Amino acid sequence: MSDADAVALTRSLLGFETVNPPGRERDCARYAGAMLQEWGFQVDYHEYADSRTSVVARLGASQKKAPLCLTGHLDIVPLGARPWTKDPFRGETDGDRLYGRGSSDMKAGVAAILLACRAFSKKLNNTPGIVVVLTAAEEGGCIGSRHLAQTRLLGKAGAMVVGEPTSNYPLVGHKGSVKFYAAFKGVGAHGSMPELGVNAIYKAAKALDKLEHFDFQTKKHPVMGRPTLNVGTIEGGNTVNAVPDAARIGVDIRTVPGMNHEVLIEKIKTMLPDAELEIFSDLPPVWTAPDEDWMQRVFEICRPYVGEAPAARTAPYMTDAANLLKVYAGAPTVVLGPGEAAMAHQTDEYCSMQRLRQSVEIYEKIIADWCRV
Ligand SMILES: [Zn+2]
Repeated sequence: MSDADAVALTRSLLGFETVNPPGRERDCARYAGAMLQEWGFQVDYHEYADSRTSVVARLGASQKKAPLCLTGHLDIVPLGARPWTKDPFRGETDGDRLYGRGSSDMKAGVAAILLACRAFSKKLNNTPGIVVVLTAAEEGGCIGSRHLAQTRLLGKAGAMVVGEPTSNYPLVGHKGSVKFYAAFKGVGAHGSMPELGVNAIYKAAKALDKLEHFDFQTKKHPVMGRPTLNVGTIEGGNTVNAVPDAARIGVDIRTVPGMNHEVLIEKIKTMLPDAELEIFSDLPPVWTAPDEDWMQRVFEICRPYVGEAPAARTAPYMTDAANLLKVYAGAPTVVLGPGEAAMAHQTDEYCSMQRLRQSVEIYEKIIADWCRV
């Protein structure tokens, strides 16, 4: 019964076209929220912009211990340029595969969270309880969770499960990121008289060289390795016969635990005195020591499903946890969900229905362990 439900519920969620941009998560959020309410949860909605709806739902509470948070995002990425061979919104199946945009990333994860919650709807009185956080606008900058973290709606949580696609392998965190534009100003002049101008592209070029050889001077993290820096965009100039008066480069830095973003940004500013930095994303790394008590119990729970004792691994992508941990500071956090990471953002995205069903069991076991029920 619950097996069929996990697939059916994922399929229902796939039917909401929450493609971001523009997002429009409201209907999907209300659908999930109504279900949680029916199961006895106290449900709050938050819209940081029109139709950009997140859900916070809680059940149970105790003085002694904070609740367990289970979180996922409702938005999905665009379909992409390549044509799909399956309907992206109908939840077509083939063998073990359930197809659809957002099947792996991450409506299967959201469905599994919801069904695990349903299983405990009558059992959480006088226990630490759970808080479910379903976010809008995760894709492209974790905007929904950033806004949510500025409200009081999140309350407390003592540990967190992020249902992003990991094939049910428990991951102990992910890198942080700092994304910014470095803008350079020059003085325009006719291309035949460059001596009368100041070339903004030359300034940017000197900065590029420094960025390419930037030394983070940090130790290698035992699991995440080293921080990285990539220049992703460059813009400048209007026409070939003029001295450009403006140029801009877009930089994406991925950080590891132990790095201080403020110090890092200061270092970049000192290195590029000519540049005006416009920082548009600043999210810390997420990391829980693999030998932490709760993480070890999660590893034990996952062990039969992954077929071996899980090793300490981290996710290649960012998650909402970076924002939610601003409120749930110190909560051990596992990234763990039924989707296939390799399928995220792909044409003909699918998830494994077997993993989807297993993830409901895994989440149920994690809730039972946290709430001792
Ligand atoms: Zn995702």
